[in-house]
Amino acid sequence: MTGEVRYDRAHEAEVLAGPGREEAPAPPRGGDGLGCHAGAAEMEAAARAAGKSEILDRYAADYPQGPHDKPQSMCPAFGSLRVGLRMRRVATVLSGSACCVYGLTFVSHFYGARRSVGYVPFNSETLVTGKLFEDIRDAVHELADPDRYDAVVVTNLCVPTASGVPLKLLPSEINGVRIVGIDVPGFGVPTHAEAKDVLAGAMLAYARAEAEAGPVAAPDHVKAAGGRADRPTVSFLGEMFPADPVMLGAMLAPMGLAAGPVVPCREWRELYAALDARVCAAIHPFYTASMREFEAAGRPVVGSAPVGRDGTAAWLAAVGQAAGVAPERIAAAQNAFLPAVDAALKAAPVKGTITLSGYEGSELLVARLLIESGAEVPYVGTACPRTRAGEADREWLEAHGAKVQFRASLEQDLAAMEAVRPDLAIGTTPVVQRAKELGLPALYFTNLISARPLMGPAGAGSLAEVVNAAIGNRGRMERMRDFFEGVGEGDTAGVWEGEPNLRPDFRAIHLRKLEKQERARKAEEMI
Ligand code: SF4
Repeated sequence: MTGEVRYDRAHEAEVLAGPGREEAPAPPRGGDGLGCHAGAAEMEAAARAAGKSEILDRYAADYPQGPHDKPQSMCPAFGSLRVGLRMRRVATVLSGSACCVYGLTFVSHFYGARRSVGYVPFNSETLVTGKLFEDIRDAVHELADPDRYDAVVVTNLCVPTASGVPLKLLPSEINGVRIVGIDVPGFGVPTHAEAKDVLAGAMLAYARAEAEAGPVAAPDHVKAAGGRADRPTVSFLGEMFPADPVMLGAMLAPMGLAAGPVVPCREWRELYAALDARVCAAIHPFYTASMREFEAAGRPVVGSAPVGRDGTAAWLAAVGQAAGVAPERIAAAQNAFLPAVDAALKAAPVKGTITLSGYEGSELLVARLLIESGAEVPYVGTACPRTRAGEADREWLEAHGAKVQFRASLEQDLAAMEAVRPDLAIGTTPVVQRAKELGLPALYFTNLISARPLMGPAGAGSLAEVVNAAIGNRGRMERMRDFFEGVGEGDTAGVWEGEPNLRPDFRAIHLRKLEKQERARKAEEMI
């Protein structure tokens, strides 16, 4: 009795056996054929066996997992790929399965990369024999042209990481071109947000070592301005709306401070300028490796951001104190900007209950701004982990009635939205889709919310227009739901000529099969 269910007589067909295959080298444990569809635990065990324990332990400390440990969004490596592709004079090379590289290059071009992504292909043999590493080294030598590049970034995806391809054995520099090798496996780096930190942190570490070894070149914009700013600077961690750094600079000016570079940077030499700042402002709280580099360079790190009235007052005070600014000058900055923030918030109030979730890292800041604008926000979910730099925002939100869920899973985001039935759900694509099915207005966080100014007076009124317009659409959403009522949902969605052919018995069998597999896996773990 095998438990196999048969629906026709295909099993009776004669199978023609061809000639035996020649012996091929066995693929390595964790080799090709595994990926994010395979067991993360197995990939991780293979990577550890192949000598990657040190890097995996560091990722586990920097990017703590749980309650769920699997990416529920895109491949994490997209984060680091995007950081490299947005830098001038930086070449990017991926080493991984062709399907992963196809997906990653597709998405990067979809988002307008307009740059080539290098790829070193492999097969079981080159992976097993170490030839893949030699191929990567050859590719890097070929690319390292100092007239074209300041740096070449090589990224090991899941399979080469699991197989222990040793990027740290690459030369650190060829003809003056820096070589930065990173491992970004899906089983070690939970989100694409944190993968940005993997590359930003690796570049900062490299730049810090260069700066410690001797004088380094100034970035183009510093040269164009005739040299270093006469005021000490504050560098920022986290991608922002382009107008936000300008607003941040204006708010720092009364304290005698200037805006420094934003990390991830746009050119290599900005890394030196970022490390040269008086203070690092971690606008996004998940840049753990980057924060470590700033602290190693002796730069204090300040979390949160000037969002809303409370946020602006607290951030100016924290940055001013970290930079050693006199209390009168901190008060001057607060007096110059808080009335404008107040006025902007009052001019653009938000009325309604909103649940919010996303994977960008700015979710807590957006929630603060919404609450200060007048909205009720009972739930904030972020795919990013709880970190020291995000504590002030968490405390403020919880004090204002929000449940903050770090490392939120899609199921948690959906459950919160379905329980609260808000006037507006801001979230990831599947959350927005579910909200629409329920007839609730919804906005996609990444495109519609995080692509707006948030800081100071400019940010205070920026969300109201889009949020209020969406909340006002409730009647239309309900009409749409009624209109589509009866077309089916889930596996009965679409146009059917007869009754959908549901087979709950098949499902029950499949469920039992999965449960059996799970029991077998658990039993194996106990042995
Ligand atoms: S590299 Fe990305 S797409 Fe490929 S297996 Fe890993 S997580 Fe999945």
